[in-house]
Amino acid sequence: YSTAAAFEDAIKPSVNVEHTKLFINGQFVDAASGKTFPTLDPRTGEVIAHIAEGDAEDINRAVAAARKAFDEGPWPRMTAYERSKVLLRLADLIEQHKDQIATLETWDSGKPYEQAAKIEVPMVVRQLRYYAGWADKIHGMTIPADGPYHVQTLHEPIGVAGQIIPWNFPLLMFSWKIGPALATGNSIVLKTAEQTPLSAFYVANLLQEAGLPEGVLNIVSGFGPTAGAALCSHMDVDKLAFTGSTDTGKAILALAAKSNLKSVTLELGGKSPFIVCEDADIDTAVEQAHLALFFNQGQCCCAGSRTYVHEKVYDEFLEKARARALKRTVGDPFKSGTEQGPQIDSKQFDKIMKYIRSGVESGATLETGGERFGEKGYYIKPTVFSNVKDDMLIAQDEIFGPVQSILKFKDLDEVIKRANNSRYGLAAGVFTQSIDTANTLARALRVGSVWINCFDIFDAAIPFGGYKMSGQGREKGEYSLKNYLQVKAVVTQLKNPAW
Ligand code: ADP
Repeated sequence: YSTAAAFEDAIKPSVNVEHTKLFINGQFVDAASGKTFPTLDPRTGEVIAHIAEGDAEDINRAVAAARKAFDEGPWPRMTAYERSKVLLRLADLIEQHKDQIATLETWDSGKPYEQAAKIEVPMVVRQLRYYAGWADKIHGMTIPADGPYHVQTLHEPIGVAGQIIPWNFPLLMFSWKIGPALATGNSIVLKTAEQTPLSAFYVANLLQEAGLPEGVLNIVSGFGPTAGAALCSHMDVDKLAFTGSTDTGKAILALAAKSNLKSVTLELGGKSPFIVCEDADIDTAVEQAHLALFFNQGQCCCAGSRTYVHEKVYDEFLEKARARALKRTVGDPFKSGTEQGPQIDSKQFDKIMKYIRSGVESGATLETGGERFGEKGYYIKPTVFSNVKDDMLIAQDEIFGPVQSILKFKDLDEVIKRANNSRYGLAAGVFTQSIDTANTLARALRVGSVWINCFDIFDAAIPFGGYKMSGQGREKGEYSLKNYLQVKAVVTQLKNPAW
């Protein structure tokens, strides 16, 4: 690995943190309790800033603001074209401020700056422009029903959306959530993850300039069991959208059911198979399998975390995968050329190290890595296990870290069964040159995304979501609009049915 950076002093970020307070009704405000919590630099574990700690009372204030903005404000009554222009202006502003935003994102989350600046912030901008394009193309149907009736459907916003996002792609998840909700005319209370509040607050400061009326988008930082649970239980929230772990998703669904049966979409964990067939282009498959797992420090819900390789190409693949992991550049995420920064926090670091120990104890072969990198912060060496068996914990649980598990298979029927034998069903990668193999696997795999000879393609127009315990509903693309729309059937008696 590239060793230098982690042992040097952490590079000083080039921006100051200016926004640390809750954003409610167009204003930055302290938490009602006056409490704050620290957000930490994953490179060192040191405090970046103290952030207002929202709780139930703040959620009440934010929901009241969102309710008012929906019931009385101009937002749902504006023309769709005007709403579209607000989203376009917001996208332009984010683009203009992309260096500051990417800097805050890296500082708060530990992801490589080049990844934040060149991949993620542009995806945020693209996502908002994509949904801006939808705003004035949402309409119902006319339906030829039996009898003397004119029947039409109206597609209306649901009302106040509660949105809860995780820390692995803070601003990208923010955009996946707000894009469709705003395009369809809803108002929002969004809770950021406690590990990564900074980038959303920065964007909050741009909303007014973009022309978003006050109260339409409220942002509350705080913890899950307090602020998050209050949002899920709130009787005046009409819809919930959540991205995070499967266990928390279950808790959220229960809170929604116990309160007012608000509708819920969930984007949860995964244990995605990455299948390398005997006819695959091996060098491409090795590189894509590497990225599928190690991208974003392995902190991706759809990470290709079960690498199934055909026995005929297994040895070659393994040798090349190990060599690629050894070449991975680990270091300060602000340093140019860094591919991998630190994990988000000590809790995740400890959890990943526990899984690595479990892999060794259960008899998998540790090919490389398996230990802390450097002395400070939460860096972990890129880790590769071979000889992994399906019943090992490392092949079943979501590790959410830089740990690649390589498994051997003999034939297609076998790998289909093994790939589907998971409580998750988020995504899969398939590497083959045969169109028949690709089609067979694409149809047989019980997952929400199949990437064939590619991985992690996240165009704004492509729907994303999970089968089984990986979630409910789809985000991105046209599919996500319906999460934020009510359908009203309007039936009118016709006086003169002949016409
Ligand atoms: P992780 O364990 O990786 O932090 P979580 O799924 O717990 O993942 O967190 C994702 C988001 O869910 C965060 O914003 C977190 O604050 C929130 N959250 C956690 N627990 C709850 C809960 N009980 N109710 C509502 N939100 C929660």
